[in-house]
Amino acid sequence: MSERRYLLRTFGCQMNEHDSERIAGLLTSDGYVATEEAAEASVVVFNTCAIRENADNRLYGNLGHLRPLKQANPRMRIVVAGCLAQKDGGLIQEKAPWVDVVVGTHALPGLLELLHRAETKGPQMDLSEVTEVFPSALPALREVRHHAWVSIAVGCDNQCTFCIVPLVRGPQLSRPIGDVLAEVQGLARNGVVEVTLLGQNVNTYGRDLTVPDSPRRPMFADLLRAVNRVEGLRRIRFTSPHPHEFTPDVIDAMAGSDKVCEHIHFPLQSGSDRVLKVMQRSYRRERYLAWLDAIRAAIRGIAVSTDIIVGFPGETEEDFLDTLELVGRAGFDQAYTFQYSPRPGTRAATMDDQIPKEVVQERFDRLVALQESISLERMREQVGTTAEVLVEGIGRKGGLQGRTRTNRVVHFEGDHVPGDFVDVAIVGAHPHHLDGEPAREPAAVS
Ligand code: SAM
Ligand code: SF4
Repeated sequence: MSERRYLLRTFGCQMNEHDSERIAGLLTSDGYVATEEAAEASVVVFNTCAIRENADNRLYGNLGHLRPLKQANPRMRIVVAGCLAQKDGGLIQEKAPWVDVVVGTHALPGLLELLHRAETKGPQMDLSEVTEVFPSALPALREVRHHAWVSIAVGCDNQCTFCIVPLVRGPQLSRPIGDVLAEVQGLARNGVVEVTLLGQNVNTYGRDLTVPDSPRRPMFADLLRAVNRVEGLRRIRFTSPHPHEFTPDVIDAMAGSDKVCEHIHFPLQSGSDRVLKVMQRSYRRERYLAWLDAIRAAIRGIAVSTDIIVGFPGETEEDFLDTLELVGRAGFDQAYTFQYSPRPGTRAATMDDQIPKEVVQERFDRLVALQESISLERMREQVGTTAEVLVEGIGRKGGLQGRTRTNRVVHFEGDHVPGDFVDVAIVGAHPHHLDGEPAREPAAVS
């Protein structure tokens, strides 16, 4: 029946992917069935991202496209959820009065009630500022059977001057360790072999939890060790740590936990000490590189990815050259590169010396070219090795696609299903993926 179908579009990071599994879970528990056709949907949900400006433009563009459908079918309900909902609030229904529900980042558990109320009372909005129920605790509809996202903390206590996350996700709130473990155990019992622990700053996990008779301290290392003991689980990943709090106990826990994968996402943002200071990132370039050395020394073969912003206000050519130099020294396996985007409410957005678009673009292109050549070099080092690959499904090349423990994407041929572990001989390299074939010898480490 067309009146019971929902269309869900997700923008942004893994946090949003995870929230979307919960949105799908809530709607399914209320009897809705997923569709890809807006015309036959009775509920359309946009789960939005606010990290860069183009996200705003995309949302309002998408809402514009829905307007004629809503006019043709006034019973269609349109929902805007996520970070832009939290950021823009009432502005969304001002700009697009055909939106029925605006639900902020903390208010997801009340989605069904808001939808029901919209039926009789008209447009609804909930922008509550406090997370009472973690998204992971809501019913989920997961598209992938072998992998799951697990939220360990929401929000962030840092104040990086470019970043809107603390404004739309609030201060850090950690989930009790027992709840996280219970969820991971349940997932493993249901066939999940890989989990990714999610938080804006995972290594400060637990700092805000009150544990009777003990000092307040981050508990991420304890959490990693505890999750490592969950039976049935084969791989543990996490994202993202902040370089500043990446303490030796976390490195020890990673090195001593066989299920924790040999990959770390270690966001740099800039290679210039002057820019890092204005960004309010609390580490400096030499410290960052020293941490990287310590991690690589403790965990053999670990792959490292990073985030870098180009064109932060006041970034000079010299600052940018510092970033290029550091990128050359760090030898990242992958880098997510972003052009700086001023976000309302952040300190950097009001700084005087915003960099012209064409300068940002030119620097960005140079950074991408350098990183592509480094990524290719790192991938070539894998040729001739054998890796354990977890099959994800059909890849772009028409064959199978999977991932190594080091988070490298591998394309290969074979007769396997998602969730299978296969030893694959690496025979070819590209900047963002490897080519493989079924191995004759078993994989050694990764
Ligand atoms: N918590 C993580 C950390 O501290 O590195 C990052 C979370 S954020 C969702 C992901 C990435 O988006 C950041 O690492 C940063 O590189 C990028 N980003 C955040 N704000 C940005 C902005 N205003 N313009 C461009 N990129 C931005
Ligand atoms: Fe944003 Fe900084 Fe918090 Fe990361 S650590 S979410 S970049 S404020």
